[in-house]
Amino acid sequence: MTSPDTSPTPPPSNRTPVHPLDADLSGIRGWLFDLDGVLTPTAVVHMHAWSRLFTPFLEAHGARPYTDDDYFAYIDGKPRYDGVRSLLESRGIRVPEGEVTDAATLDTVHGLGNRKNDAFNATLAEEGVDAYPASVAFLDAVTRTGAKVAVVSSSKNAPSVLEAAGLADRFEVVVDGAVAAREGLPGKPEPHTFERAAELIGLPTEACAVVEDAESGVKAGAAGEFGIVIGVDRGVGREALEELGADVIVDELDELIPAVERAAAASGADSPSPSITREDPS
Ligand SMILES: [Mg+2]
Repeated sequence: MTSPDTSPTPPPSNRTPVHPLDADLSGIRGWLFDLDGVLTPTAVVHMHAWSRLFTPFLEAHGARPYTDDDYFAYIDGKPRYDGVRSLLESRGIRVPEGEVTDAATLDTVHGLGNRKNDAFNATLAEEGVDAYPASVAFLDAVTRTGAKVAVVSSSKNAPSVLEAAGLADRFEVVVDGAVAAREGLPGKPEPHTFERAAELIGLPTEACAVVEDAESGVKAGAAGEFGIVIGVDRGVGREALEELGADVIVDELDELIPAVERAAAASGADSPSPSITREDPS
């Protein structure tokens, strides 16, 4: 943002947003999906889990009660332990740092963070999470064309979220926070976790689409040599997503189904994929 004038028009951009119906998906044979916010509305589960952690904790410390505003002010978007530190600071409460291996019963930064993770899993088990219907419709459409699909998530809870949403058997490849830690891959906004997922589904990055709703994720997509970066606007905003490097921006993924089907039909004649063969066996 360098435009200092007071003009009501948005700052000039050298990128022209592509309408979802006009998206060129020829050559895209793999789809790399972010999870939280793209396939599942997981933010609600996180909010409930933080409330489960801090409501009794703040009460026990005689501090101002926990509200959802605290989530947005001190926690949202931060790594878990940073969220704990930030919320405690807002109430003037000091606890020892502790260590990552701390039991969830300990009142340390790490113990509280681990307790939040337990609360997340308990909330997920009790409340479940419904995948976005339009995202499931899109997933159905791309798998019908024979495309490969993977999940690329910073969360270490990705497998349990996929399970709760009934999507676990839809993805053979899941590169989540646990995989990244194990393999020493830098997280988003670096492109490495997406690149690893492309490798695991056996495709060059140029043949893969990145689908993201977060700033860091769109940046990661733009930083790699991917075929296309799809931004799903769940609140970041179209202009921001575009500026960060999204090639196409949608409110819901099913807006892209016509483009997927058009690309599949165009490549159908010489495609090796059996699932889009239109030949009658008789
Ligand atoms: Mg996300």
